[in-house]
Amino acid sequence: MVVRQHHLRAPETKLKFDGSYRVNPPDIDVYAAPQDSGTPPRALYLHVPFCLHRCGYCDFTLVAGQDDLVPAYLQALTNELDQLDDSYEVDTIFIGGGTPTHLSVEQLERLAGILFGRFTLSSGGEFSVEANPDGLSDDVMKTLVGIGVNRLSLGVQSFDEEILRTLERQHTPDEADDVIHRAIGTFPQVSLDLIFGVPGQTIDSWTTTLAAARLFPIKHVSTYGLTFEKGTDFYRRLQRGHIHATPDDLERDMYAAAMAQLGSSGIPQYEISNFAQPGSECRHNMVYWQAREYFAFGPGAARYVNGVRSTNARNVTRWINCWLKQEAALQEVEQLSAEEKIREAIFLGLRLVEGISIDSFRDRFGSNVADIARASAAQHLDGGLLEIADSHLRLTLEGRFMADTVIADFL
Ligand code: SF4
Repeated sequence: MVVRQHHLRAPETKLKFDGSYRVNPPDIDVYAAPQDSGTPPRALYLHVPFCLHRCGYCDFTLVAGQDDLVPAYLQALTNELDQLDDSYEVDTIFIGGGTPTHLSVEQLERLAGILFGRFTLSSGGEFSVEANPDGLSDDVMKTLVGIGVNRLSLGVQSFDEEILRTLERQHTPDEADDVIHRAIGTFPQVSLDLIFGVPGQTIDSWTTTLAAARLFPIKHVSTYGLTFEKGTDFYRRLQRGHIHATPDDLERDMYAAAMAQLGSSGIPQYEISNFAQPGSECRHNMVYWQAREYFAFGPGAARYVNGVRSTNARNVTRWINCWLKQEAALQEVEQLSAEEKIREAIFLGLRLVEGISIDSFRDRFGSNVADIARASAAQHLDGGLLEIADSHLRLTLEGRFMADTVIADFL
């Protein structure tokens, strides 16, 4: 089956494990100063849960049409960051959502004040913000540059008007075109998010969207296969037979077209869903795929600190109300065992096209990566879905189409 990567962009739901989290163990303080290695995380994620409208396929943590909650959200965020007993320097900051640029200029400046009250960005650091084309004004862009943002991730999704309507996006292809031009003139790095496998989308529509994206001097593109997540409007419509999932063979052709078209434009694939000119990979997301630790704040945000993975409450009003009372609002907490850390490093590392360095893995974990889950590794090495090349264990080209299946075997 073709790998069906949801349109996930932020870590708030990107790292889905096996559902075995324990809830709120009383003995773990997820905001405690880093102890294990003595090295605090060098990456920070912040979740902004506001959108103009909830798109029918979206299951992110957000509220739509409730902008009156923004002041309380900012206060709650202040209170959550105040849990840290120190200040930290990080190399990457990623503000995701929701739609962070749905906030006003004043609210964005306040958000930056909260953030930089606890964190500093190292010299040469990467500061990404997610944005949608609808209503993205020059004032907001200037404000982002003013607070240090140097990478804009734009949720363009498609250049086909009909597909944008199906997705319930609030912008047109012309608006996207205009915003991309302005963003390129404003930020050192601009990335585009595109979606394939949309009901009714043809291969022609998708390749035309890819071709339109290639016309811009863009160095990074993310492509996500649409999935139907429980609880979304799309899921309900699928169940009732009102819309239909894209057939696997068509979705496979779409994924292959992205690899071919973007690769031939000098934007080769570097991760299951991501393409970049060498040197323009998203440094923040690399932290996740390399199973390194990171701070995270905001509703639904997932962090990995001190060997503990924890996720904040996904209910936005619950998260706000708890933090306004200075109470932690956690949904899931798990202290990883040594074996779980190893398995995570494998299933995250296999998402990277270069795969997992056998030497680095041995240095870090003291074991040979191919010996972990030996039966699964051998089966996929024999079946041509995994390979060992250049001292790395990695998915073959065919394996990338089956990534979900192969990676699941290492869980
Ligand atoms: S704009 Fe993005 S985050 Fe907001 S509802 Fe639509 S898909 Fe979800």
